[in-house]
Amino acid sequence: MIEINNVSKHFDGVPVISNVSFDIRSSEAVVICGPSGSGKSTLLRMIAGLTNPSAGAISIDGEPVQRRTFNGRIGLVLQEPFLYSHLSAVNNIALAPCRVKGISKKKAQALALNLLQEFNLLEKADAYPHELSGGQKQRISILRALAMEPEVVLLDEPTSALDTISTQEVIGTIKRLTERHCTVVVVTHELSISNMIADRVVCMDRGEVHEISTPYDLVTRPRSLIGKELFSQSV
Ligand code: ADP
Ligand code: MG
Repeated sequence: MIEINNVSKHFDGVPVISNVSFDIRSSEAVVICGPSGSGKSTLLRMIAGLTNPSAGAISIDGEPVQRRTFNGRIGLVLQEPFLYSHLSAVNNIALAPCRVKGISKKKAQALALNLLQEFNLLEKADAYPHELSGGQKQRISILRALAMEPEVVLLDEPTSALDTISTQEVIGTIKRLTERHCTVVVVTHELSISNMIADRVVCMDRGEVHEISTPYDLVTRPRSLIGKELFSQSV
């Protein structure tokens, strides 16, 4: 579904991503793992169409990724949950479908309530962001992305700002996305997340992909040095 074809990216001549190629299948959950500075966020931003590769191409269903064409078709969730402080949880989720897709406020709220129910957050529907824990805020921001019915949900370090309990909650929400057969790409420097959710793990270091494995293979027989290192840090 997503084809990343020989993609490179440099900033002011400094290479940040070098010749990266891999595919992501529809309904697949892929974790992109690597140390800080390895180029994960840059790669994710290119998949989201927020920045263009210096060379190579990224396409979704055969169509080149471009910001305008894909607006709303790609859900992006960042490390710091992004919610409007003056809107309740249900209205945070309903806002974009209402504004961008032009569906009525009532319908958008009904859609938001359905999502809150499906993801066990219905009791927080009327809560404002300051009344929510970090994990709950992040879960609401995932539902916010989901409300646009995106073709793929991209998450950049979605648990890095959270404590252990909130991290588990957010992983549970991402797991639910995968059970819903969403196509999900999660960027993280913590390999441990992948065991719970990933069909495949892409191991990156210094802008290059060193290994693509199932979580099981990565744990039992890592093929790359960085795969071994990431695994030893995760136990
Ligand atoms: P990661 O998400 O794996 O920590 P990033 O993709 O954020 O890595 O960054 C990879 C490298 O690219 C870093 O050395 C970073 O400083 C550099 N970089 C990222 N964005 C920019 C930018 N907009 N301009 C210049 N350098 C950047
Ligand atoms: Mg990053």
